[in-house]
Formats: sequence, C-alpha cells, structure tokens
Amino acid sequence: MTVIIEQLDETRDISDTDLKLLIETKQYDHELFQHADRVRKEYYGTDVYVRGLIEFTNYCKNDCFYCGIRRDNRNLERYRLSKDEILSCCKIGYRLGYRTFVLQGGEDPFYTDERICEIVSEIRTKYTDCAITLSIGEKPYKSYETFFKAGANRYLLRHETADAEHYTKLHPAEMSLENRKNCLKNLKTIGYQVGSGFMVGSPFQTTDCLIKDLRFLQQLEPAMIGIGPFIVHRETPFNYFKNGDLQLTLRLIGILRLMFPYALIPATTALGTADPQGREMGLRAGANVVMPNLSPVEVRKKYELYDNKICTGDEAAECRACLSRRVSSAGYKIVTNIGNVRPLKEA
Ligand code: SAH
Repeated sequence: MTVIIEQLDETRDISDTDLKLLIETKQYDHELFQHADRVRKEYYGTDVYVRGLIEFTNYCKNDCFYCGIRRDNRNLERYRLSKDEILSCCKIGYRLGYRTFVLQGGEDPFYTDERICEIVSEIRTKYTDCAITLSIGEKPYKSYETFFKAGANRYLLRHETADAEHYTKLHPAEMSLENRKNCLKNLKTIGYQVGSGFMVGSPFQTTDCLIKDLRFLQQLEPAMIGIGPFIVHRETPFNYFKNGDLQLTLRLIGILRLMFPYALIPATTALGTADPQGREMGLRAGANVVMPNLSPVEVRKKYELYDNKICTGDEAAECRACLSRRVSSAGYKIVTNIGNVRPLKEA
C-alpha cells in the first residue's frame, strides 16, 4: 500500500485497481494523510481560506431524493432573502474579513436572471476586492453568461455522482448527469472558477462510482472540489438509509489532495455534522477551505439539507470565532485574502 500512496503522491495518478484498494483499505489512512498534508503545505502552507456562505432561498423546483429542501418536502417553512438582506450578510462578512461570498440556494424561479444580476452587480460594485460565487444549480448557458458579466466569478455545482445509472437513483427522471456535466462544461467555457464534487456514501454508491467520480474530476480539473458524507434527512425518500462514512470521506479528501495538489478542498459543514471534530479532521486529511455560515440566524434552521445540520442555532451567530479556534486547534490558520486557487507545479 505504501508503494501505491507514494506513486499517487509522485505522479498524481494510479490505476483503477490500486484506487479501489486504496479506497477500500482503512489501515493506511495515517500514511495517506501525512502525504496529503505535506502536499497541502507545499501549495498552501498552513493557510485556510474562508468562504462566507449565504443561503438565500430554500425554495426549490427540483426533487432530489437526498435533499431536505426538495420540492416535495411539505414540512418545511420556505423563505427568501431580499437583496438588502443579502447585502447586509455581505457587510457583516466583509467586516469579519471574508473576501468571498457564496450565494447558495435551491433552484428558485423567483430569482430570475434579472434579479440575480441585480444582486450580483450590487455586491460587485460595493465589494470590488471580493470574489462572488454562485451556487444556484443548473441554468442555460445564457444565464451563466449574464451572471458572469454582472460580476460573478466562481460557481459551485457538484456533479453529485459521475455514474449515470447511480445518478438516476438519486434524482427524479427529469434530471440527468448529462445535463449536469454540460452545465459544468459551460461554466468553464465562460470563464468561471468552477467547484464540483460529490456526496460520500450516498444510497447505492459503490467503489466503482467513487472511481468514476475521481476520473470525471480529472477531466474537469475544477478549482474547488467539495465532498461531504451523505446525511439522512427525515423528510426525504432516503430517510431509511444510513449516513455516509466519516472515515471514508476523510480518506477521499486525502486522495483528492494527492490527485489535485492545487485544489481548493473545503472541510464541509456535512463533515462537521457527521462528527463534532469532522472539519478539523478534514483539514488534517488535506482540506484547506472552510465555509462559515453568514445567513441570518433566523433562517439557518430552514436551510436544512440534512438532519442536525450544525451552525443553525443562536450560539452559531459568531461562526468566525468558533471556526478560528477549530482551525488553529488543527494546526492551521485562517487567512483573510480572496483565496484563489494555486497553479499546478510541474514535477
Ligand atoms: N441547488 C444547488 C445547491 C444544492 S445544496 C445545486 O443544485 O447545486 C449543496 C449541496 O449539498 C448539494 O450539491 C449536495 O451535494 C449537498 N447535499 C444535499 N443534500 C444532502 C444530504 N442529505 N447529505 C449531504 N449532502 C447533501
């Protein structure tokens, strides 16, 4: 196994057979994480970048089987933030030193392209030194292009799974992996810094699915790769499944760091939900980004993609201090710059 990890570290690639072995073997995690941490330090030192997450709508026209804010969940109070509310989140974030704002939401038709552009342009005018990230799902090429022209420069769209058959088991028939991939291609063509990724341990996922996920990411070469364990939401068709495995998620973060040394890899909220120390463990396994919640405290509970999502209570109003402590306890430090991706160093 040592040889496999060393080879992956050196060449950033391994065969499907070795990948399968690595994904399915527990006892070499320590060694894997040591390699991953060395590579992350080579590229990013101990820096951890921050992205302020603004969850601006929990309305969604989609019905993804795993997601708590899916259309068919009638047991959820829906909300939308106004432009002014979004702007005050940015103001708070800016004061805290955040230089990237991520506007995430369900696919909510209320926010027409025009409305999104208005919001984006205003943030762009007020915060010239910040990155604006959108995470609002699948849109036509034209829409992505107008958002870009209005000032958005990054986009997060996880591919969720790169196995077409698995994709159909996680999504209703009107959604397809092909369309998802096409959106990602379009975003790259337009010039966005793109983030993609997948859930670990989603229902029906196999090791072969995970290998396909990694191979797809090798083709896409995204700037950011976000992964987190699948976590059950009680009001979904997947309510009787098991949560994704924490250790497997950490192992995949380690593998991602070696395959994509340059990448921005967040220690996600889902990791922090799976285990109180999940994000710290994620950082030690190779992650280098955290995404504190900037949404108004009153709405946080309503953006519940999965059960028991952390940082939704009153005590979480000050995510900044809590995260700084967590990051330094893991041996890293939060930095307050825009946090761009580093270029790949040639061997
Ligand atoms: N509508 C946007 C944002 C989706 S929410 C979009 O389509 O991109 C952001 C991410 O949360 C999703 O991409 C998914 O990977 C993750 N997510 C949703 N439900 C989840 C669950 N039950 N457990 C873990 N992660 C989940």
